Amino acid sequence: MSTPTSELTERYTHALMNTFGPPKLALVRGEGSHVWDEHGKEYVDLLGGIAVNSLGHAHPALVAAVTEQLQTLGHVSNFFTTGPQVELAEKLLALLGGHEGKVFLANSGAEANEGAFKLTRRTGRTHVVAAEGGFHGRTMGALALTSKAAYREPFEPLPGEVTFVPYGDVEALAAAVTDQTAAICLEPIQGEAGVVVAPDGYLAAARAIADEHGALLWLDEVQSGVGRTGEWFAHLRHEVVPDVVTLAKGLGGGYPIGAVVGLGRAADLLQPGNHGTTFGGNPVACAAALAVIGTIEDEHLLEHVTVIGQKVRDGLAADPRVTEVRGEGLLIGLDLVSETAAQVVEAAQDAGFIVNAPTPRRIRLAPPLVLTDEDAAAFLAAWPGILDAAGV
Ligand SMILES: *Cc1c(COP(=O)(O)O)cnc(C)c1O
Repeated sequence: MSTPTSELTERYTHALMNTFGPPKLALVRGEGSHVWDEHGKEYVDLLGGIAVNSLGHAHPALVAAVTEQLQTLGHVSNFFTTGPQVELAEKLLALLGGHEGKVFLANSGAEANEGAFKLTRRTGRTHVVAAEGGFHGRTMGALALTSKAAYREPFEPLPGEVTFVPYGDVEALAAAVTDQTAAICLEPIQGEAGVVVAPDGYLAAARAIADEHGALLWLDEVQSGVGRTGEWFAHLRHEVVPDVVTLAKGLGGGYPIGAVVGLGRAADLLQPGNHGTTFGGNPVACAAALAVIGTIEDEHLLEHVTVIGQKVRDGLAADPRVTEVRGEGLLIGLDLVSETAAQVVEAAQDAGFIVNAPTPRRIRLAPPLVLTDEDAAAFLAAWPGILDAAGV
């Protein structure tokens, strides 16, 4: 495992705050599902910028949309509107099932959740129920909804009255929600926890519990949304209609954008003066998101993601050192027999594949939705050797 020395990563440690630990690689170029490091080594990118690069790297449709929009009109303030902004909001509402609703455009997942958190306050209630193992971002409000002690504790006190319940446990959820609860906030698939899928019936039960108490059902689809699971949104498989949906990661295909969608009564809770952002709704970001959505449609990527995702999960599960494989479409998590996920990440990198270890025992894959059969097959062929090299 000889990693050549890197001038860039050395300079990084002096110029960038040490929030992420040392970078694993310095990357210089990408194309499709492939990236190249500064030494010219090629990798199949099975993480996709953490579920962000929906169309892979340098997709011509995304490059053209961003370039053309920047050449036409790159930014206006929210005193004004633009075609891409309105078109994107309408498109998101249509993809969510065409229910009555309204969209607030933001710049990231945490910021989308921050906006949604503020929206829930406009119900006149302050209590929120969220799930253990959930991840909603690093701003103070998003962090207040995130259960992991190591992320929270250095920054307490955090805003809000938040009750955490075990994910997937209907009884615990029913017991925690009261007539004072503003919202239930859940991921349809917990990404950062290592891809934990909501059990059948859980989201429908959450819908019923929210209705019983007049609370909002808020689904955080920042990681699971926009085609990642082979559906436009992961919750659509569960046939529930949420009040609030938050989006970000894959929406812009690498161009930063987030969105809060309020359906039904949640559409009009935020009123003039309640919330804002300078960059949110930026026409270039909206053009990027429209290019992502249009390409998913044109290239029939939902069908592709469903088929290739199943192949990858089956291939990974064939090795006895993998005890469980979870996920939907191309949001995939697996458990190893031992706490060797960090070694697997390194061995995969040596073998030319980028994967991620969200916990010491779990591997997560969130490759571009355009992942080819050849790249998937190459990874599955290399997989047993990667586990050998990692000493799993
Ligand atoms: C990544 C993520 C966030 C935070 O998004 P940022 O863009 O990093 O702020 C929020 N919720 C979920 C489910 C995520 O996966």
